Amino acid sequence: MKKIFLLLSLSLFFACNSSEEKEIPEEVSKEELSSDINDNFGIVIHGGAGTIVKENMTDSLEKAYKDKLEEAIRVGHEILANGGTAMEAVQRTINVMEDSPLFNAGKGAVFTNAETNELDASLMDGKTLNAGAVAGVTTVKNPINLAWEVMENSEHVMMAGKGAELFAEERGMEIVDPEYFYTENRFRSLQRLKEMDTEETELDHDQSAAFVDPFIKDSKYGTVGCVALDKDGNLAAGTSTGGMTNKKWGRIGDAPIIGAGTYANNKTCAVSATGWGEFFIRGVVAHDISALMEYKRLSLEDAAEEVIQNKIPDLGGNGGIIAIDFQGNIAMEFNTAGMYRAHMNKNGDLDIGIYGAE
Ligand code: ASP
Repeated sequence: MKKIFLLLSLSLFFACNSSEEKEIPEEVSKEELSSDINDNFGIVIHGGAGTIVKENMTDSLEKAYKDKLEEAIRVGHEILANGGTAMEAVQRTINVMEDSPLFNAGKGAVFTNAETNELDASLMDGKTLNAGAVAGVTTVKNPINLAWEVMENSEHVMMAGKGAELFAEERGMEIVDPEYFYTENRFRSLQRLKEMDTEETELDHDQSAAFVDPFIKDSKYGTVGCVALDKDGNLAAGTSTGGMTNKKWGRIGDAPIIGAGTYANNKTCAVSATGWGEFFIRGVVAHDISALMEYKRLSLEDAAEEVIQNKIPDLGGNGGIIAIDFQGNIAMEFNTAGMYRAHMNKNGDLDIGIYGAE
């Protein structure tokens, strides 16, 4: 009797297991998807999350942001529509935002405590799991392009500071005088923070509180990012940033950390993050979303919600992500008041948002 019971339980166990496995989004099962799904493509971008509320925004500034988001996403969408790769779409879309003073990346990068601009970027190919990243560069006009160079033309994944700049020169990349990154607005933001910093330091001698406080209460994490799915079913993700205003000691955030600020894997999704980098590094946010899909079979939407609405706030951090999965489903999840964001699907339907609950 016992033996029969054991046999029955075992066969039930294997039956359940094999039916579950059919749902796993593995490469094999993906190939079997209908050609309709294989032809799908889409692109999502962000221009940073933070305390972005309508009351603090003028109509003209709101229009400027929306126009630039649209300009950027159309560049990537056209590449995808013409059969280009997700990697190319991500890079070229990010270039548009890097060249705009509106975002905290490239031209509009924020200032460090030493009144310099130190830029970080990373890029990942979901097909090969190749990746490239740069941190703390001061002379490279488009850091996302340098991340690509690191991935394509070096044996490494990440380069930092002077060495990365030397590599950029050797690769014939566009080098600019650090003055190129000066913008009045960003410089004023630094001065404001420094004033607050001084007061706080005088009050309680707590450097870290002074450093952290402005980040939480009135911060706009203006990092830019892009994720894309191309017609061949390949995913890519990229992120570019100036980091956080008033950063010191060569501080580096999540944006150039593969798995934290950027991650792409054809089996699951492509993710780019923006927010309080220290928490996104500790939460390994971008990879965690992918892992929840791969190991726990969560949908992209549920995985993104779990990480951004539960895990990161539980750690004490804030911010958001954009993501697209291997079927073209998307997520634009944030726990801040707003996040500059846009999505365009295969049909060219455009969805642009700035504030929460739009
Ligand atoms: N995540 C970036 C950092 O911590 C900041 C941002 O998203 O704007 O460097």
